[in-house]
Amino acid sequence: SQNRKKLALFMESGFFVFEDSNAIFIDPVRVLNRSYNRFRVSPSTYYTRFFESQSPNLSSTSRKRKRNAKEPRALNERERIADQRHREARSFLLKAHESLQKSTGLLDALKNFRNNLSCSTDCGGLPLPEVQQSFAELGQVWQAPLYEITLNVRLSGQKNDDKDRPEQRVLPAFNNLVANETTDEAEADFLNNVYIIPRESCFYMSDVGQIHNLIPAHPNSGFNLIVIDPPWENASAHQKSRYPTLPNRYFLSLPIKQIIHTDGALVALWVTNREKLRSFVERELFPAWGVSYAATFYWLKVKANGSLISDLDLFHHRPYESLILGYICGKVNNSDEQSILRPVKDNYVIMSIPGDYSRKPPIADLLMEYVPGVKPARCIELFAREMMAGWVAWGNEPLHFQDSRFFLKR
Ligand code: SAM
Repeated sequence: SQNRKKLALFMESGFFVFEDSNAIFIDPVRVLNRSYNRFRVSPSTYYTRFFESQSPNLSSTSRKRKRNAKEPRALNERERIADQRHREARSFLLKAHESLQKSTGLLDALKNFRNNLSCSTDCGGLPLPEVQQSFAELGQVWQAPLYEITLNVRLSGQKNDDKDRPEQRVLPAFNNLVANETTDEAEADFLNNVYIIPRESCFYMSDVGQIHNLIPAHPNSGFNLIVIDPPWENASAHQKSRYPTLPNRYFLSLPIKQIIHTDGALVALWVTNREKLRSFVERELFPAWGVSYAATFYWLKVKANGSLISDLDLFHHRPYESLILGYICGKVNNSDEQSILRPVKDNYVIMSIPGDYSRKPPIADLLMEYVPGVKPARCIELFAREMMAGWVAWGNEPLHFQDSRFFLKR
């Protein structure tokens, strides 16, 4: 019955905590749904991968890879460091995965995650087109400043018997802070598409060249939590067709110090397993931002049947990524500053079934207890492709996953 209670809690919250290991399983769809009142994230459009049984093609390439991996070859210096890092992570990852595999109730539930509830209706009713709106390209054309977005908001009536008052707001779509400060979703019209804007959230859609516009006029309106998932350069051709990438020097000049709150901030940075990248973050990026390292979380990717998406020891195809956490002290000259910062749980493992390419699980709730300063925390995501209630989303395509086709009506 203890297990049944945990499962019921999971169905409600999207979080399943494993007491026997430093790990959690999350269902992004359930977690994201907390940002919405009138809509829900469509599970069948979130989970586009890792549900079907593997195609014969895929398994043959992975066999080939394994064969290659077995060929004896001496590791170079960087590969040796990467291997050492992997070995450290390995024990935590295996322990977490064992916990998942022991939770039969949860595993049974996973199989049905992709099914949309029968009572819901599709928003658009249209199949998802292969090619979506490319905001990154639109934002680059000379007409970009002329593009407008229409926010349809509902202002709640002042008195109990007052009806909600609909209101339309027409705003520049690019290089502009577009805010839905109401406590209900806004439906936004932009170039023949509808986008769902969560309550009390805003986005700023621009190239990195305009990011200085996020610097607050007063540091009291800066951010206490900054989640960053940069478009790291990557050799994979698959990646190249998905979104543009940036050389590391662009990340060095992100105005992190300038956008933090006077009380300080927790910074959470997604990184891949490339050793070159890990050492860049430790030696150059965090020091340049004034961030001191606090802990590492791992995101372990599993399939709907609970198995890992790839062999844990496959060198160039690890089934996990890392979230590096660090603190920036506030500007207040407080000698107790360090003691205010809570030590972050290290080597925490987050398991989930991946959604679309490069889409990260919603980990914000897991970070809140470590965020310094004012409550509720002021939160921003950089290089965002989706929005969350209460958050600011910045990037060149923050509306990407807000397309109404990814949603169902409640
Ligand atoms: N965290 C996101 C998610 O879970 O879906 C994925 C972010 S993805 C790794 C990086 C994002 O940075 C992409 O949306 C990409 O278009 C954006 N990006 C690339 N170059 C950019 C630029 N010059 N200015 C602003 N954003 C850029």
